[in-house]
Amino acid sequence: MEVIIKDLIGIESKYEEDLKGKKGAIQRHTDAKGGEIGKEGENYVAAIDGNSLISTIDLTIQSIVEKYLEQACIDNVCTDGGNVVVMNPQTGDILAMATYPSYNLNDPYTAYTEELKENWETMVQEERTKSLQAVWRNKAIADTYEPGSVFKLITASAALEEGITDTDNTGEFSCTGGIEVAGVRIKCWRYYRPHGSESLRDALMNSCNPVFIGLGQKMGVQTYYKYLRQFGLLEKTGIDLFGEAKSIFLAENKAGPVELATISFGQRFEITPIELVTAVSSIANGGTKITPRVVKQIINGETGEVTDVPIKLGERVISEETSQKVLSMMESVVAERNRKECKSCRI
Ligand SMILES: [Zn+2]
Repeated sequence: MEVIIKDLIGIESKYEEDLKGKKGAIQRHTDAKGGEIGKEGENYVAAIDGNSLISTIDLTIQSIVEKYLEQACIDNVCTDGGNVVVMNPQTGDILAMATYPSYNLNDPYTAYTEELKENWETMVQEERTKSLQAVWRNKAIADTYEPGSVFKLITASAALEEGITDTDNTGEFSCTGGIEVAGVRIKCWRYYRPHGSESLRDALMNSCNPVFIGLGQKMGVQTYYKYLRQFGLLEKTGIDLFGEAKSIFLAENKAGPVELATISFGQRFEITPIELVTAVSSIANGGTKITPRVVKQIINGETGEVTDVPIKLGERVISEETSQKVLSMMESVVAERNRKECKSCRI
């Protein structure tokens, strides 16, 4: 359960005002030199306990996530480690948030992997500090990465919302292994055996790059960036934890056709895992923007009164209809696609 406690550290710094309480005191009258003038008027002020916070983290889900994240990172030799966020798309509640490798909260200054343990004695202090600081970061909110094919969900949502495509128009698209954009040929990952005739559902299941590049082109930079903004991808999510980083996108007025093409299938920009989970939550919850949170209730230390932290729902991002269409395609991706076929896909 160490990660839970670690997450709580982040919560503690964010909710310092709620948690700290008030010190007790004895008030008495003194003369100008600080000498006591009798016991009259002496007043005892009791200390007030700070408030308690009820976290959204579900201990069962968190421990399952930690176990399988560690196993997956070891099995797939993920040298940079990994992280998992589980979020309720209706409320924004973070049910689990785990980073691997992690560290022992009760012993945060010691080596946290077998490799580090072996070399710890010979490492200079600077190297030790650097490796410790790296593991203390909550990568799900503090680090950005290139999301890859999972971003095709955003492009598909925008294109459906704009009414320029539909899920099951047989033969609507044709993959020839690549597409020419402003004189640059961008390949499909399966350029050696092109996907041929596809519907949007087929294209998402095949993770076919040219289809999503084409949809991006049809929408243009202005419309595409409008959806990036609506999905909240150009700003921080506003999660109630310190240290949240922001996405790195090329400015709208600097993005040309080639840049738009690469963004459309998830490359050449960086977002945080929490930004992606939050954006996809809008697809999953019927189309509404939601703010993620790790605290759902505050218990008053004095009165025991429980206050609910309000759920922060934002504006509509896509219609209910578009949301249902994208969800149905997401289901097809896991239910129907031959997973062996695509080694590079991340959806
Ligand atoms: Zn293709």
